[in-house]
Amino acid sequence: MKKHSLALLVMSSMVLSVPVSAADIKVIHAGTLLTLAGEPVLSERTLVITDGIITEIKQGYVAGPIATAQDTVEIVDLKNKFVMPGLMDMHVHLQGELGPNNDSEALRMSDADVAIRSAYFAKKTLLAGFTTVRDLGAKPEQIYALRDGINKGWVDGPRIIASGGVSVTGGHGDVDGMSPDLLDKFTSKTICDGPYDCRRATRRAIKFGADVIKITSTGGVLSDTNTGTGQQMDDDELKEVIDTAHALGRKVASHAHAAQGINAALRAGVDSIEHGSYADKESIKLMKKSGAFLVPTLLAGDTVVKMANAAGADFMSPAIKAKAVRVGGDMMKNFSAAYKAGVNIAYGTDSGVSHHGDNAKEALLMSQAGMSNTDILKSATINAAKLIDMSDSLGSLSMGKQADIIALNANPLNHIEALLDVPFVMKAGVIYKL
Ligand SMILES: [Zn+2]
Repeated sequence: MKKHSLALLVMSSMVLSVPVSAADIKVIHAGTLLTLAGEPVLSERTLVITDGIITEIKQGYVAGPIATAQDTVEIVDLKNKFVMPGLMDMHVHLQGELGPNNDSEALRMSDADVAIRSAYFAKKTLLAGFTTVRDLGAKPEQIYALRDGINKGWVDGPRIIASGGVSVTGGHGDVDGMSPDLLDKFTSKTICDGPYDCRRATRRAIKFGADVIKITSTGGVLSDTNTGTGQQMDDDELKEVIDTAHALGRKVASHAHAAQGINAALRAGVDSIEHGSYADKESIKLMKKSGAFLVPTLLAGDTVVKMANAAGADFMSPAIKAKAVRVGGDMMKNFSAAYKAGVNIAYGTDSGVSHHGDNAKEALLMSQAGMSNTDILKSATINAAKLIDMSDSLGSLSMGKQADIIALNANPLNHIEALLDVPFVMKAGVIYKL
């Protein structure tokens, strides 16, 4: 009864306080326009954006639509720029950055400190031209709050698809390298063992706000456990997590290095393989059959190799250093084979290992590994949108799509380095950089 009268009150006040709706109109004059990676580049086009949605794309430079007195109209001159869809990074960790102070930060920073810093990293990412990211590992309540705060316009950042992590005891997704007391304190409630327990953990992660489930089917480079990079979640655990997540409408991304763990996750129905460092012929066959995406994160491999070899890398334990040099070095070669075989590839950097805001550097490594510039752009736009089931609204520019638009000083199809310099960023029709 109470609820009912409240609803009526809200409805009547809405009717009274919104007399005429004013539209926010932006008119972009684009010198060069790429609407969809893989399609021909267009020149001299006008894009009209109304309340964050692309409503018109016209030939030539024309004025906007007829606006009412209440509407706001802004003309954006990008006549000497290359205009394209916002970039999408399918693997970031906005919560932190790898470095020598990580241990003391874990002890000294409050959850609130970490949350504020995450907002800082989110803004850097957005201003680098990445309008959508998938965060695959953070304290759940912090990343969900950041995601929701950005959606409400409280802080500037990319659209975040936020994961909840499910991992096994002592696995790469568990905490490590601390005293037993701290290990106990920091162990997440979604660490599980055995299929029933992992079903519980998956449901719990989704209950608390996960858009996607992140699992770790193999060991990882940066876990200080001396357990290698082989399979760590058993077949029955993988199957249970993935079936449960799918039943609840969530996709599953699996961190995986060794082939056995990659293949086990693929056989269990995983939606994306993160890193995929030792993907073999069987992995390629399984990915092509299921359509699962490979998210290569070459930048993470490159970063950890450089760090392990640099002076002052004492903060990395011998176990971590050894893995970094081996895995980082092998990533490029195996990625190259997967690319040539034609598997679905979505762009991902593992930023947080590398610096936030450097996300475009992945493109240079993909290019070095033999990927064409068109395919790199596809991976960072339309393929990424497909991976998160949002290609109806993101990843390309056409009528009815979200106005997530960036501009570059040069054409990245000729020089992929052009992605490093992004002078214009718009997300959902809001200009963040001009
Ligand atoms: Zn990662």
